[in-house]
Parts: sequence; structure tokens; C-alpha cells
Amino acid sequence: MTIEELYSIYLQSSGVTTDTRKITSKSIYFALKGENFNGNLFANEAIEHGALVAVVDDRSLSNPSKGIFYFENSLLCLQNLARYHREQLNIPIIGLTGSNGKTTTKELMASVLKEKFNVWYTQGNLNNHIGVPLTLLSINQNHEIAIVEMGANHLKEIELLSGICQPTIGYITNFGKAHLEGFGGMEGVYRGKSELYSFLRENHRKVIVNTDDTKQMELSNGIDSISFGTEGDYTYSYQENSNHTISLIYQNCLINSQLTGKYNYTNLCAAATLGLYFGIEIVKIKVGIENYLPQNQRSQIVKLGNKTLVLDTYNANPSSMEASLKNFSVFEGSKTIILGDMFELGKESAYEHSKIVSLALNTNFDNIFLVGENFYSTTIDDFKIKKFKSTEEAKNYFKEHSIVTKNLLLKGSRGMALEKLLNVFKE
Ligand code: ATP
Ligand code: MG
Repeated sequence: MTIEELYSIYLQSSGVTTDTRKITSKSIYFALKGENFNGNLFANEAIEHGALVAVVDDRSLSNPSKGIFYFENSLLCLQNLARYHREQLNIPIIGLTGSNGKTTTKELMASVLKEKFNVWYTQGNLNNHIGVPLTLLSINQNHEIAIVEMGANHLKEIELLSGICQPTIGYITNFGKAHLEGFGGMEGVYRGKSELYSFLRENHRKVIVNTDDTKQMELSNGIDSISFGTEGDYTYSYQENSNHTISLIYQNCLINSQLTGKYNYTNLCAAATLGLYFGIEIVKIKVGIENYLPQNQRSQIVKLGNKTLVLDTYNANPSSMEASLKNFSVFEGSKTIILGDMFELGKESAYEHSKIVSLALNTNFDNIFLVGENFYSTTIDDFKIKKFKSTEEAKNYFKEHSIVTKNLLLKGSRGMALEKLLNVFKE
């Protein structure tokens, strides 16, 4: 079967899935192989549950029955189908990548564009070599515009995803210290993210850039730009509010976001810029941005009795950790931080963890709790610091000892799941 033939089946299908638990009548099932599972084993089940077609890449594992089609590589087939579908769609697609802030920017952009268009955008964090194709294959004829988040933890990944998604406009949120292990250091991060710029440059697409970000300006050189910043097409100013949220001002229009952290300022600017570029009135952009409430443990402010809690437990790496600490340091009143390990840092890990500990110590925090093996192994000591090997251990401690503080910051990598501590504080 060719991709064109599969595409004509896709057009009659109810959608695409790689998970047999999500099979609905007339869907297409792609049997993928993962570390712990082999989707080929479930192809028959998919057909029994109503799938129109199951794409497999191991003939031996399913009984050849009506609807099961063999391809050399199911993942490649999924990606090729997504690329083919994208090529049939005549709509603008915004492709987003960067070390930090992709999801937040994507959600903000969607919130703004919804004020005028029927928008499709990456659901949750489906941003990898499987998620991007699935996102694209969910775009239908009624959608007028799409925003696709592209994540990467090694070189060539953004090149692959850009080739599938073929964005008409690209934006790199920032270059930070994330996934250093896979990229082999900061130079690798620049090269990896710039694969999006290469796509945009070679295909005469547009780029959104912040003129105040010298690295963005340097690496996006030669691409037709839509810019914001001091020297940009659109210029904004920044305001921090007494409730710790931040605002954006564009030509006398004050836009109050529900986000905390100065690092979210560029995310807001990028979303507003996209809206203005697509001719959305500033009052509507204001509505879009003001309506966006983070609910995903990213820069979320939670009130716990008289405590103000910053919940940033979705993810962490040295750059976002630093940004988060800086933001939290200006909160008024006593401040306690609970930091969880940062993962995927390779040989930089011990150094980066120590650096965060000394930064925290040199900032005005009253108590510093460090959670996880990496932080546990750091050697800097101080009466303010208390360490735990795991989130579980910290949880047991906090069950016995209450924290007296006005402000509390929780930040760590996904694997640490620091949000588990929340229940203890709520009790
Ligand atoms: P992932 O790699 O998990 O998909 P992401 O790039 O989508 O992450 P978000 O989930 O939007 O990023 O944000 C994660 C955290 O990164 C935020 O809670 C915040 O601490 C930090 N962050 C957000 N935006 C920025 C930014 N522009 N610069 C630096 N740090 C940021
Ligand atoms: Mg994300």
C-alpha cells in the first residue's frame, strides 16, 4: 500500500491512534514499538474494536486479517502520512521549539488566535516524533490555523519534525540548558534548535524573533522576520503586579496575564505579536491572554491559607531553575524553596546542581530544601539547607514538620513529581 492509498483511507477515518485503548470506530491504528511494548501485538485487537485499518511492521505478530497492512516501519509510515496530510492543508502553521516555555507560549498563542480563528494546537505536551505527527493528523478541513509544539532532546530531531510539520512561521522560545546530555552541551543546543531556522530559511518561511535576544537575532539571520522587542515591529513594556502576576502593555493597552515570572514576558510578547500579525485587534488579544490560566503546574500560583505557593513542578533544568529562583526572590515576606533534581544533564549534572545550590544560598531565601539523589550529593552545606534523597522521604518529613513561611516555591524535574508534596501542605 502506498502513502497516497493510506491517505485516502485516512480521509474516511475517524482519526489516528497508536493506543488500542483509544480505538474508536473507523480509526486508524499504528502499531509502534516502544521500550516496554510492541504495538504489533495489539493489531488484531484494534481491528476487533472497530479500527478501519491497522498499520503493522511485524507480520509475524498478528493474524493476517482484513484491515491489517504491513509497512517496513510503522513509525516512519505515521510520519510520512502526517507530512502528506500537512502538504494537502493550505493553512498557516506555527512551529514552536526552544528549551523552555514552549507549552506556555503555545497555549497563549492558541488563546489569542482563538479570538479570530478556528485553531488546532498541540494537546498537552505531545511534542515528539510521535506527538507531532498525531497533532498534524488531527487537523481537519475546518481548522484555519495550527500551532505545533516541537520538542527535542538530541540533534536532528527538530530537522525531522520541521520537515513533517512544515511551519509557515517558526519561533524558538529560548536557548537554555535543557537536555544537555543529548545535545552534548550548549553548542549542541544552539545547533539543534537552529534546525528550525534552517528549515525556515531554506523554504522562505517567516520567523518570530525578539530583537533583544542577540542569539536569536544572530542565528535567524537571513529569514524574513516578524519581530518584537526594542527594535522590533511590535514593542511592548513590562509590568509586575503586587499579586506577583505580570502584565504587558501595548500602546496604552494594559494586558494582565495570570502568569508569574519575568521569564513569561517574552512568551506573552510572542503570543501578542502573532495575534497582531494576523490582524487581531489588541482588545481581543487582551481577552485571549487574560483568559489563559495555567493549570498545568507551570508557573502556577496557588493560595494555601495565608501562604502563597508557586507551583512549578512540571519541569526543571538549570535555566528555568535560575529564572524561577530569581522571580521568587522578589516575593515579599519569608521565603522557602523546595527544589527537586534536574535530569538529563549528563556530565554537567554535578556542576549544575552545585551551581543552583550556591545561587539559592546567595539569594534571600530563609529555608532551602533539596530533594533527590543529585542534590543530595552536592557538598555545599549551611544551616538553611536540608536534603532528602527522594520526594517520598521529603513527604514523610513534612508530615511531621510544618513549614512556617509566607511564600513557598516548589520546582523540580518531572521525574521528581514534587507536586506530591502538595497534599501534605494542604492537610
Ligand atoms: P517541555 O520541554 O516539558 O515541553 P516547555 O518548553 O513546553 O517544556 P513550559 O512547560 O512552557 O516549557 O514551561 C516549563 C517551565 O519553564 C516553566 O514553568 C518556567 O519555569 C520555565 N519557563 C517558561 N518560559 C520560559 C522562558 N521564556 N525562559 C525561561 N524559562 C521559562
Ligand atoms: Mg512542553
